[in-house]
Amino acid sequence: MVDLGVRISQQVLRTDVAGMPLEWIDYREAVRLYHAEQVAYACGTPLFRVRGGYSALTGLRSVIEVNSIIATHGTHQGLAELRDAYVPPLNNRTLFKRDANICLYCGNRFLNSELTRDHITPISQQGEDRWTNVATACRRCNNHKGGRTPEQAGMELIAVPFTPTYAEYIYLKGRRVLADQMEYLLAHFPRKSPLHKRLRIHLESNTAATAADLC
Ligand SMILES: [Zn+2]
Repeated sequence: MVDLGVRISQQVLRTDVAGMPLEWIDYREAVRLYHAEQVAYACGTPLFRVRGGYSALTGLRSVIEVNSIIATHGTHQGLAELRDAYVPPLNNRTLFKRDANICLYCGNRFLNSELTRDHITPISQQGEDRWTNVATACRRCNNHKGGRTPEQAGMELIAVPFTPTYAEYIYLKGRRVLADQMEYLLAHFPRKSPLHKRLRIHLESNTAATAADLC
């Protein structure tokens, strides 16, 4: 494999043939898709150049160039409808990323290890464990709130908790999202997505790699 200055762990964004984001894959999976002739076209920038076998016909060695975004055939039918109704699984890593690692009560930014999942309406008061009823909270705020609703505790949320769409969830799940992948995913976010502003700031300040690490 030829090193193009990209980490081997860099994820490739896989889309369907219509360009809808599907998932993150590693370079091995991307190469497999190229070999299986599943790649319809590529977008973004070249990340890896992988040498394959020698051709019996020409004696030349094949080279596969893997881009940051690849569109593939063979996605299952009905995915579009599924995607519209899709509710991503709730986990702390993506929840904290949804809220930019900011405690939605005090507004301060924390490391993942210092954050907790707060149930806005507590489970003990029939609150549910779903995206719109959970907020990123620092330990101090969560302890202070205890088993109360924000109203009962005299606290206020600084942002409205939302359920990420399919494309937003792919972004939230990504590790080290490259600038071109970020741009691509942004185009698939709902117009009112709170993530727009955040990503735009990162892209405009031209610090995509750092930004991806941060949020
Ligand atoms: Zn706090």
